[in-house]
Amino acid sequence: MSRPMLEIEGLDAWYGAARILFDLSLTVARGEAVALIGPNGAGKTTTMKAIMGLVRRHARRLSIDGQDVATLATFRIARLGVGYVPEDRRIFTDLTVAENLALARRPARAGAPAWDEAALFALFPNLAGMLDRPGGQMSGGEQQMLALARALVGNPALLLLDEPSEGVAPIIVEQMIETIRSMKARGLSILISEQNIDLCNAICDRTYEIEHGALRPGGLVEKNSSRPQNE
Ligand code: ATP
Repeated sequence: MSRPMLEIEGLDAWYGAARILFDLSLTVARGEAVALIGPNGAGKTTTMKAIMGLVRRHARRLSIDGQDVATLATFRIARLGVGYVPEDRRIFTDLTVAENLALARRPARAGAPAWDEAALFALFPNLAGMLDRPGGQMSGGEQQMLALARALVGNPALLLLDEPSEGVAPIIVEQMIETIRSMKARGLSILISEQNIDLCNAICDRTYEIEHGALRPGGLVEKNSSRPQNE
């Protein structure tokens, strides 16, 4: 079996003195889409931030494509090919769509799908028509699509999507499902934190359930299986 794209064993994380994650373990295989589900405050965003090195964390193992990243700075983790779309999107509202994309562009990398303009705009045809529009003049759904596109032009091997459907109209969520499915079909490995079960079911191969900062016992659900399975 090839090595996992993301391998986490025994991850703990803190905000100041407050411990938020407790011994969390999960894997994302190459080309797989995996969901992290759980209620508000369960620790989904903190897990994403811990992977990216944005909060204080400790793990017995935290590796990206076999490389240990447990003590690496955020920019080094990003350069290894991890694209991160945070919950609040963080697009530059004063910059145009084209400028937002230009700032994020990185060279293509071996073992990851390459996103040139043709591939990108095949996936996001609406963005092609609004390249000169400032990010701040886009709808919430358009901003989320720009956030996804901006992550892709970094040519990542692994994409972390934090609640992509949050605050987005249902019709746009439908489009987003197709978009993320296409991204996966091109070979991208994806970890999605979500509360929208329909989106998870439509996209993801496996689902981990998180509760109070820890995986729920038996909370790993393989696709097409109604019974939780023990890891
Ligand atoms: P949501 O769906 O609301 O985003 P979540 O599952 O992503 O929920 P987190 O945002 O990871 O949950 O929050 C996990 C816990 O950490 C919560 O109890 C939250 O109050 C706490 N928390 C989040 N951010 C901070 C912070 N900056 N400082 C202290 N505690 C925080």
